[in-house]
Amino acid sequence: MVRGFYVQNFGCRATQSDGAALERQFEERGLERRLTPGQAEIVIFNTCTVTASADQDARAAIRRVHRENPSAEIIVTGCYAQRAPEELASLPGVRRVIGNSHKHELARIALGAGMEPRSAQESGESSAGFVAVKSLTAGRSPSGDLPPVPGQQPSTGDQQPIFVSDVFAHTDFVSAPVFDAANERTRPNLKVQDGCNNRCSFCVIPYVRGRSRSLGLERVVEEVNRLVAAGYREVVISGINLGRWEDSCQKSDLSAQPSVPRLRQATTDPSSAQGLTTLRTDDRRPANGPPRLAALIRAILERTELEKLRISSVEPMDWTDELIALVAETGRIAKHAHVPMQSGSDAVLRRMHRKYRPWHYREKIEQIHAAMPMAAIGADVMVGFPGESDAEFEETRRMVEELPFAYLHVFTYSARPGTAAASMRAQVPATVARERSRILRELGGQKKVWYMRSFVGKMVEAITLHGQGGACPGGFTQALTDNYLRMIEEGWHEANQWIRVRVEGLAGDRLVGQVAGGGPQVRTSPRRASLPW
Ligand code: SF4
Repeated sequence: MVRGFYVQNFGCRATQSDGAALERQFEERGLERRLTPGQAEIVIFNTCTVTASADQDARAAIRRVHRENPSAEIIVTGCYAQRAPEELASLPGVRRVIGNSHKHELARIALGAGMEPRSAQESGESSAGFVAVKSLTAGRSPSGDLPPVPGQQPSTGDQQPIFVSDVFAHTDFVSAPVFDAANERTRPNLKVQDGCNNRCSFCVIPYVRGRSRSLGLERVVEEVNRLVAAGYREVVISGINLGRWEDSCQKSDLSAQPSVPRLRQATTDPSSAQGLTTLRTDDRRPANGPPRLAALIRAILERTELEKLRISSVEPMDWTDELIALVAETGRIAKHAHVPMQSGSDAVLRRMHRKYRPWHYREKIEQIHAAMPMAAIGADVMVGFPGESDAEFEETRRMVEELPFAYLHVFTYSARPGTAAASMRAQVPATVARERSRILRELGGQKKVWYMRSFVGKMVEAITLHGQGGACPGGFTQALTDNYLRMIEEGWHEANQWIRVRVEGLAGDRLVGQVAGGGPQVRTSPRRASLPW
């Protein structure tokens, strides 16, 4: 009988994308994907470590699966596995811990081919590319010029095999398109960048995902064309630090850039519904640098027939004039800008080692808003960072209040072992951080309602989503607007269709709309979305 596997993902879109790539690895080796961990002979936990509660969720899930399916071989990978492999190896049922450093060959290791005996790894020698954990824990990586890897402890020698090495030395890129939710299979998410060269003092991500690296321009275009051929009409591109995407294999050749083709669809903005306008001359990059994010986006527009491209989070300093103009000038890019803010206080941003000041951030948001007045602008904000005073929090609250945000993601600071912030004095009491979080969530909720209300009575365009067969039980279809608002429309409409809808009101956090002309859909796709994953 064919062996079955199950991949359980935790955390961000990048982790979900890694999980999809892991599924491909096992399927290519003839194993079958199972629907639940209870049916699988091999269960892979693809973990996140961004907060202490993410760690706790992973440990609880591992224990639960081992209880329910004790014969399953449990393999733990992902960011938590990279940060604290021996902590995970000591959990009952865990057979192997394979860090991000070895994710690209996880199935091969898991199935035993070419696996090094444990003693070889523990000897401290680099063998077949593996580096013993103990050789990483002296505070420096083997190359000697890299920052310490926080949280890793020497192997005790009585635990299960651990495959973790210096993640900063790795240049492999693991990625496969993935969907945001199991029942929402209309908008694939393609990770095009991984790792981060910044060192924000609260963040453990660079230590567990390594240096910034990107999927090459040709590969991205290939993947998008594949998705378009399979029938997808909207694709999201994402990364750990997407604004740092660059194709180091290529040099820009500006003279070779063709003009951008006409749009294939209408948008909510009538001025852009007729097609792309000519890009400004200052959109062109110097000919000697590698192509950056705007060049990638331009290549997707020029070399694929993708109808809608959505850009996930981009750091404020990477929203260049060129990128803002490109997003504003084409209806083929969703009018949506997610710009992490973290704090409105200069002092807090400095302690966070963020690379911008509050006034830079404010200018950037105002510039994006001026270029795209109806765009959904969203932000991540952190409360309770060490030493955050009432006055500093008030600076953040005021900035949130004054800027035209459509939504907020509020996070409470969580100390991650080994990061600079974890050893800072004046940690904010949990009760204070909770109250600050409540204040910002409430403000974010109000801003979202104001933003949503501004569309009542207007026509918008939305893509219908899969949702348990495409419709809610009450005879409504779910859809997502160009500017990232969830919407419900009366009646059943096939998923993956662009519809023009008149917004009639709000129901909770969704718009309620009526499809224009009473017809089921304004445009239909000749293709059906049907990829094998
Ligand atoms: S930019 Fe800062 S917060 Fe974002 S992944 Fe890099 S280090 Fe972490």
